[in-house]
Amino acid sequence: MTVKPEQNELDPAALTAPTAAMVKQLEAEKRDLQVARNRALFIDQDSGLLNRRGLAQALKMRAPLDPTGGSTLALISVQLSREQLHNLSADPATHHHVMNQLSQRLGRLCGGELIGAWSDSLLVGITGGFDWAALTDEHHVRLDAIEHALTDSIDVRGVRMRPQLRIGLARPGLDGQLPGQWVSHAQSVALNLAQQQLPLTEALKDSLHATAKRRKLIETGLARALEQNELTLMFQPVQDCATGSICSVEALVRWSHPDLGLIYPVEFVNTAEDSGLTEALGQWVLQHSLSALRSLHEAGFALRCSVNCSPRQFDNPLFAEHCLSSLSVAGLRAGWLEVEVTESSALGNAAATILSLQRLREAGCSVAMDDFGTGYATLNYLKNLPMDVLKVDRSFVTDIAHNPHSQKIVQAIIDLAHALGLTVQAEGVESTEQMDALLAMGCDRMQGYLLSRPLPLQALLDWLADQPMRKA
Ligand code: C2E
Ligand code: MG
Ligand code: MG
Repeated sequence: MTVKPEQNELDPAALTAPTAAMVKQLEAEKRDLQVARNRALFIDQDSGLLNRRGLAQALKMRAPLDPTGGSTLALISVQLSREQLHNLSADPATHHHVMNQLSQRLGRLCGGELIGAWSDSLLVGITGGFDWAALTDEHHVRLDAIEHALTDSIDVRGVRMRPQLRIGLARPGLDGQLPGQWVSHAQSVALNLAQQQLPLTEALKDSLHATAKRRKLIETGLARALEQNELTLMFQPVQDCATGSICSVEALVRWSHPDLGLIYPVEFVNTAEDSGLTEALGQWVLQHSLSALRSLHEAGFALRCSVNCSPRQFDNPLFAEHCLSSLSVAGLRAGWLEVEVTESSALGNAAATILSLQRLREAGCSVAMDDFGTGYATLNYLKNLPMDVLKVDRSFVTDIAHNPHSQKIVQAIIDLAHALGLTVQAEGVESTEQMDALLAMGCDRMQGYLLSRPLPLQALLDWLADQPMRKA
């Protein structure tokens, strides 16, 4: 006998069907809400372009920070001349009309009507009333199209007005590490070019040409620099928060180029990689760091030295052995060397990297994860990479005193690191406010301009001698 369901009993099928539909609808509503929220937060209502906040977010995603530079991205800043801006400010309707016209033109560059080849890679945002920023690949910049699109005259109540624009260019990675720095660099280039009164196309060509020429000089000169001792090291002290004493120094390489002057590592570490010079550069830095460390010890400063390592150095299975034999040649115990790696070190060759780091740690060296928080799959690396120190990237420290989000992130990093038995070192501490915030959060070590800028060896020795309370 089959049992009939009771009249008022709910059919399970009837239950799941509407629920699934409801869930779908709820999800759609949630998506719509998210889109609306993002639009309100990230889009300029007048022009429909990304606003300053949206642009910063998009730039971060499009151009993830590559600490070793070498990217071919270009950020173009476009501003209406201050004179035209002043004239327009007297008439709000015209002001609005011209701004919209120019925004639409820039927006069309993004849509590809005018620029074709670089439509996919172009990103445009509005950073102020008459200030725009566009990110593209410098190989794809079509100067004639930009000039035509932007300076073509605009109809203002029957009168033709030709926009006078200031245009400048910045290269992410070379002209600053943060989106805000690229925008301000491109704006200052624009101002300089405007003051020289160069035509727009010439100005951009000059700027691009100068970049290409500089890159070539760097590419061709690095092998010579290594041979002829054009490289130098600077050392930045690191403070132990618990004792206030200086516990280590970080070695940072510089290049005194005969024509270009002082060059920072962001401009040539990547080039070294492309030219197969990574290992030679790494060896140079290690030998000279250890020799400087020896001098520090002989002068009575028993400090550790941390050395930055490029990901490609771990391709050599003998990397750890080279470090250990260099230590013994310098007459130093392994405990005085700290090896700094970035998350990207483990991306290409994770197994080899882990083996080398394990070997170094067994021998007594320590391992620090540099620029923590700027890479990908961060938590995964925390679990897998053998390490002792986690260096919180400067980008979190910069606004730590005022931005509750940064505070929460740094506090979470510190708690997590401590739970895993790691030491936390903050980078780029520039103010006492930042220092106080980090101390309150339980940070273990600090490094930054507040304590000292990177110094040449002799200046470091003098500086250390002036810090009796900080001597370890
Ligand atoms: P990093 O290892 O994160 O080094 C810290 C960078 O921040 C250094 O820049 C340092 O001068 C700078 N800095 C330190 N304190 C402050 C501060 O308070 N405020 C600000 N605004 N900046 C601060 P630098 O020397 O230009 O080095 C940049 C990057 O180049 C390094 O980042 C590291 O990734 C790489 N690098 C430096 N030396 C070497 C090296 O010998 N080998 C390799 N492979 N990479 C190196
Ligand atoms: Mg470092
Ligand atoms: Mg760092």
